[in-house]
Amino acid sequence: MLNQFLPESEARDIDALVERILKDLGGPAPPLSLATVRELLKLDLQFYRSTDTGILAETAHRMKLAGKQVLARPSRIIDAIRRWDLKALWVPDGRRLLIDRDEPKPKHRWYEAHEVGHCIIPWHEPFMHGDQRLTLSVACHEQLEVQANYAAARILFLRDQFKERLLSSEISFDRVRELAKIFQNTMTTTLWRTVETLDFPAIGMVSCHPHEIAASEPVRYFLRSRQFAEKFSEVTPDALFSELSRFCFGTRGPIGKSEVMLKDDAGEVHVFFMETFWNHHDALTLGLCRHAKAAQVLVPGEADSRQLLK
Ligand SMILES: [Zn+2]
Repeated sequence: MLNQFLPESEARDIDALVERILKDLGGPAPPLSLATVRELLKLDLQFYRSTDTGILAETAHRMKLAGKQVLARPSRIIDAIRRWDLKALWVPDGRRLLIDRDEPKPKHRWYEAHEVGHCIIPWHEPFMHGDQRLTLSVACHEQLEVQANYAAARILFLRDQFKERLLSSEISFDRVRELAKIFQNTMTTTLWRTVETLDFPAIGMVSCHPHEIAASEPVRYFLRSRQFAEKFSEVTPDALFSELSRFCFGTRGPIGKSEVMLKDDAGEVHVFFMETFWNHHDALTLGLCRHAKAAQVLVPGEADSRQLLK
């Protein structure tokens, strides 16, 4: 899956909504307490199990009590959860955030912020009721998701505070790990944020281990900075992934780093510095463009260590 960019005007509008919340919270320093956000927005956080219909049925019942026949049958909310593979849910009636208890705990923070995103974006409200959620077109659903993810990122990384810290020293995977701790977000979301924040060509990958027997889709997320997306449209995640096995070894923490050369759409070769970290679930890779390589000639034999990828 590729990361998506919002049109600038949409991003600005969503950012203004986040700005207001952070202002009302007195301009907090990292890490942001989501409990204070819930308190400010008067939200109720609850957990459910997709196998246990109790709280979902009760939610559906409440929605009916509020005078809206939102769900014909309580079981439809469970259908919605399965159909959209929802890990969390924002239910405007009763101002509830529901999170799937069976999801790994470190991910809850992102899911919660994502649902807060749906809650604060006023044009999402009509789509957040059970049945509308069922009938949304996939394209529309995806657009709402990209918007909610953007809101979540701007909330959890405190708007420009993340960028200021990121750029205040040399960017590396170690820096990503430090910032994950400071902002109390997962390494994966911090990697994602890092790549999207940079205004030069950069990539991030969330994949299986480079020496694992290749899954059908070894790269779960291929993250690109805006500049990379614009200039390197022909570089594929699979080609980058196959590079990892060349320089990655081991199964703990940092598992490899190397220079990799990538050709941009104009045919110019650029050196990327890649670092890969194994977090016991995924291989996380950060790749940063160092500089353009003018008319580099690849010597046979050198191709092993510095392979040219298109
Ligand atoms: Zn969503």
